[in-house]
Amino acid sequence: MLERLEGSYRSGKQFTSLVSHELRTPITVILAQSELALEEDPPEEAREAFEIIQKQGRRVNKGLDSLLQFIRLENLAEVYEMEEVNLSRVVTDTCREFHAVREKNIRLQAETEEDVRIRGNASLLRVLLKNLIVNAYKYGVEDGVIRVSVAEESGEAVLSVSDDGIGVAPEDRERIFEWLYQANPTTTPKGGSGYGLFIVRAIAELHGARMELDSAVGEGSTFRIRFPALQAAGLP
Ligand code: ADP
Repeated sequence: MLERLEGSYRSGKQFTSLVSHELRTPITVILAQSELALEEDPPEEAREAFEIIQKQGRRVNKGLDSLLQFIRLENLAEVYEMEEVNLSRVVTDTCREFHAVREKNIRLQAETEEDVRIRGNASLLRVLLKNLIVNAYKYGVEDGVIRVSVAEESGEAVLSVSDDGIGVAPEDRERIFEWLYQANPTTTPKGGSGYGLFIVRAIAELHGARMELDSAVGEGSTFRIRFPALQAAGLP
């Protein structure tokens, strides 16, 4: 299997389907079989063994999800085309999708300069922005405000998402961009994955952008992404 994995590593898609086929399928079967065995009301010792199998099987499944996500990111550049994108429009459209959200009575405000253009991929930029906005809601406070803005600043296109939420402690400011790192696992709302910001950073890097984070605990955070100007990004 290893050789096959190595051989196909160049193609993200092939690798993904291989992982699904070689690993996901057998684990699903193992989980289903042990589930069935448990339904048969086995003796105590066997029950314990099956429960361990179930627990570990679910763990492997979760690990596979992470692995697949990771591989998809590694192959971003291969899969997604980079072209001229109207970042202002991406921001306006994405913010509109959140208008119906009533989470903690938080208001979302968009301040967009018109027609700010960069070289990039609109789908990925939407993912990047959504992840930042979802976090701003998650770590925001009751009656808070989220400000999303896009503007041109000395030749750069600057996208920023600000919240007046819980903030990020200085010792966590680098680490929160790491794979599966959560600053406050106990207070993190349900449904957190620990890779939202990793994805944000991967997408920013693919766009040749710089990420900045200003934050104060108890006051809020501003995630800022500086994209190179269109000409500097080398668009024909
Ligand atoms: P998660 O699924 O846990 O939100 P992320 O990768 O998106 O994973 O974020 C990593 C960690 O960074 C979070 O667990 C949280 O501690 C912190 N974080 C992210 N966004 C914010 C924010 N806007 N305000 C405060 N903390 C944040």
